[in-house]
Amino acid sequence: MATKLVERKPLSLAEQTYLPQIVTGLKITMKNMLKPPVTLEYPEERPEIPTGYRGVPTLVKDPNGREKCVSCQLCEFVCPPKAIRITPGEISEESENAHVEKAPREFEINMLRCIYCGYCQEVCPEEAIFLQDIYSLSGFSREEMVFKKKKLYEIGGTLPDNHFKWGKKKDAELSGNPHH
Ligand code: SF4
Ligand code: SF4
Repeated sequence: MATKLVERKPLSLAEQTYLPQIVTGLKITMKNMLKPPVTLEYPEERPEIPTGYRGVPTLVKDPNGREKCVSCQLCEFVCPPKAIRITPGEISEESENAHVEKAPREFEINMLRCIYCGYCQEVCPEEAIFLQDIYSLSGFSREEMVFKKKKLYEIGGTLPDNHFKWGKKKDAELSGNPHH
């Protein structure tokens, strides 16, 4: 195979000193030093989370502290990576919330699988599952990252509920109109 020799141009005096490149680099540095920073010193500094941010999915209770989830399993069905596992259950007759037909016996979300898509929140007919503004999770084992019902309610807390669905049902029952 023929070899082609490429002639290398000799460096000028200025190029040999690298001074033009150094000055150009310093000019860029000085210009950016005067601008406000665009990065954060994470984790000491935390970003401001915008409204509507889709973070960790959690279960929420109504303002009376009752479970809103009726274990219809729609969220489990719609979840693309199959991160949700629900075992439906009944509310015992003795419970003061016995008029609520169902509640999950077990409810798990595998946070290692969750892609924070928000489909579960979108599909939930009871507004029982919400993606919160938590964006950083860690754990020492895979098992630890499978959040059980108790933990999901702990981080979910209570969200304002304009519907008071169960309260309305109970009131209707007491006034003799159970099909309200
Ligand atoms: S946010 Fe998406 S991936 Fe995560 S649990 Fe809900 S449906 Fe599944
Ligand atoms: S969180 Fe909502 S969609 Fe999922 S099982 Fe409960 S009521 Fe159904």
